[in-house]
Amino acid sequence: YNHYKALIAGIDTKVPLLNGSYTTAINFDNAATTPPFLAVLEELMDFSPWYASVHRGAGYKSQFSSKLYEEARESIANFVGADSSEHTVVFVKNTTEAINKLSNRLLEIYKDGVVLSTCMEHHSNDLPWRNKYKVDYIELDKDGRLSLEDLKKKLQHYDGKVKLVAVTGASNVTGYINPIHEIAEMAHGHGAEILVDGAQLVPHTPVDMKSLKDPGHIDYLVFSGHKMYAPFGSGVLIGPKKTFQQGSPDCVGGGTVELVTHDYIKWQPPPSKEEAGTPNIMGVLAIVTSLKMLKSLGMEAIDAYEKSLTQYTLESLKNVPHIQLYGNPHDIKDRVSIIPFNIEGLPHDIIANALSQEGGIAVRNGCFCAQPYVQRLLNVSNQEMQQRIANPTLPHPGLVRVSFGLYNTYDEIDQFISLLCKISVNRKYYLEKYNDG
Ligand code: PMP
Repeated sequence: YNHYKALIAGIDTKVPLLNGSYTTAINFDNAATTPPFLAVLEELMDFSPWYASVHRGAGYKSQFSSKLYEEARESIANFVGADSSEHTVVFVKNTTEAINKLSNRLLEIYKDGVVLSTCMEHHSNDLPWRNKYKVDYIELDKDGRLSLEDLKKKLQHYDGKVKLVAVTGASNVTGYINPIHEIAEMAHGHGAEILVDGAQLVPHTPVDMKSLKDPGHIDYLVFSGHKMYAPFGSGVLIGPKKTFQQGSPDCVGGGTVELVTHDYIKWQPPPSKEEAGTPNIMGVLAIVTSLKMLKSLGMEAIDAYEKSLTQYTLESLKNVPHIQLYGNPHDIKDRVSIIPFNIEGLPHDIIANALSQEGGIAVRNGCFCAQPYVQRLLNVSNQEMQQRIANPTLPHPGLVRVSFGLYNTYDEIDQFISLLCKISVNRKYYLEKYNDG
């Protein structure tokens, strides 16, 4: 029994199976979205007597909601070790919006600089940098981990022109955690800053941005509430105060300005300047409550438990016939609870559909918004990738991914492994059955 289960909403939902029966849903797709903590939903109900828009009114309720909203910045900064005398917390919709916003904000500061992204990024930490900066990609080693050798080489090659290293804290494909403080020191040593995409890191391991005076500090950190047991629609962008003090915001309108005439604009100081429109107070309260919960459960304890689930699954997967694992399946150090795999001879969508329709087990399959990384893991050329994605009759390249949350159990993993063995042993049957629709 996992005592964390009682903390999560919707955990007992029954879903229909292909044979007409119902089973309790198993969610192994936490890297996409985690279900919310019950405490988060209760907090939103508790807020209902005070429901009023932030920064918009003189009424008591509006004043109160504004106070909660502003106080949230401090507790979020504390959770990730940001120093709120040095860092600004900006509220956004999600990680994707945070990185787009940052890529616009930095345009005036970096001018013609180089941004180093990596070959293992989610598209959200790759595409926003393209067409605005010269972008280059840090290579991977043979196991699919980031090559610090290549980072060193590229920092030297660009000789002071690299302004930013934009790197994921943990990959949403392999779960590999990057040594962000080591990367930060290397970047700072060459006059560059570092952005950590924390979407897969912050919900699973302790994160410490450190003071800007520390050589291994993290300049920018972004993450999404919906991947950390809060609902959809709120996310966080944290960065040095001075970055947001200069220039004009990318999204303008109400809330961003102190003074407007038809020929003059005075922007609000940050973070308000960056938060156009009526703020999402419920989303922000949800993040604060989920962080409080995570803190009280202990990020170290969560990390250790999820690691043991990952280790158990990797060991069990090795006994599944025809299994294909990616990266180094023996290396569970520096890894969050994400495992990609395939079964030789079966398309990934058939495996995922069979797991759902015969076991009520939700996984994700495909390229997980990280096509260049999946392409590397599958060893597929650019040309083949393009042909296979453009032609609907060819099988799409991809993987199956399981990703755990703190409430998953060994028993759920046993059910998954047992069904996966059945699918694998009867590959021919599943190929015919699911290909026929
Ligand atoms: N980065 C990583 C590593 C992710 O896993 C995701 C979500 N899959 C994102 C960015 C984008 O997050 P969101 O969809 O919440 O903007």
